[in-house]
Amino acid sequence: MTASSSPNLVDPFGRHVTYLRVSVTDRCDFRCVYCMSEHMTFLPKKDLLTLEELDRVCSAFVSRGVRKLRITGGEPLVRKNIMWLFRSLARHLDSGTLDELTLTTNGSQLKKYAADLKACGVERVNVSIDSLDPEKFKSITRWGELTTVMDGLAAAQAAGLKIKINTVALKGFNEDEINDLVIFCHDHEFDLTLIETMPLGDIEGDRTDQYLPLSVVRARLMDKWTLQDIPYKTGGPARYVEIKETGGRLGFITPLTHNFCEGCNRVRLTCTGTLYMCLGQDDAADLRAPMRASSDDTMLHQAIDEAIDRKPKGHDFIIDREQQKPALSRHMSVTGG
Ligand code: SAM
Ligand code: SF4
Repeated sequence: MTASSSPNLVDPFGRHVTYLRVSVTDRCDFRCVYCMSEHMTFLPKKDLLTLEELDRVCSAFVSRGVRKLRITGGEPLVRKNIMWLFRSLARHLDSGTLDELTLTTNGSQLKKYAADLKACGVERVNVSIDSLDPEKFKSITRWGELTTVMDGLAAAQAAGLKIKINTVALKGFNEDEINDLVIFCHDHEFDLTLIETMPLGDIEGDRTDQYLPLSVVRARLMDKWTLQDIPYKTGGPARYVEIKETGGRLGFITPLTHNFCEGCNRVRLTCTGTLYMCLGQDDAADLRAPMRASSDDTMLHQAIDEAIDRKPKGHDFIIDREQQKPALSRHMSVTGG
């Protein structure tokens, strides 16, 4: 921390930054059609932060009042030796300076790592599943096997991890499966969160064909279920309801139909050490250079302070047929979902 900086990170709009999402790799063993193109060019390994650098930058944020860390990607569990990072970051849970260490995963490697994650103090995992039909699952992920992910879920549950399923709502793809997903998740005592597709990165195909407003999904769900708004919060932007008939929770993340920026408490770090202050804006700060310039953290904290001073008020996503380009050129797998 610099002499002039306050211990906590407060942006120009008075919002406290208490949540850091960290993408540890841009690589993935799936190629979800809305996330990546089939043939991706990945970053050269030398550009990536090392695991030690990831630990250092996360720890710098924790020392500045960040209470929640989410490890994501790309697929975080395909990064070599990733458990070293979890084990190292667990010290902040032990010391009480961090409330939660968690991850978002496609579940392909969960069977292998679930018990280790739990041993590192991870209590909850978010697992992304867009279809319960093996054929459809394969078609949306291009390379994924539903049975592997299901085995991963079973291992996670056996290890005592709480599970939230993330599903991107896609027109003409899974809109007829939402009720089944609710039943599946709530039968297994998983939370379910539905996400609107966001216009991030060039993909093959037309996003306007995929966009399904969650306002429509919610209205349809209300034909079958009794939805009750609840104040449940996980530190993220989802708004939750309880479904009376199942007793389970259902979240909605609606970047396009509802602007949730006013309560934003988060920033995102890419695997190359670029800090994005908003998922939906291009402004970013390089934290790798100040880290590599000195073994002392003074310059790193200075760069963090300057970045937080520039955190924008909000994003302005639009999905527009006229505008053929994505709203932002970077893929979700770069900034981390
Ligand atoms: N590979 C991991 C996974 O799939 O959970 C973590 C990274 S992934 C980028 C994180 C989340 O972002 C996933 O739930 C994924 O479905 C979602 N996602 C990816 N691209 C998206 C897009 N364009 N719009 C909305 N959600 C997206
Ligand atoms: Fe990989 Fe996750 Fe993107 Fe799918 S959504 S391609 S699993 S990073």
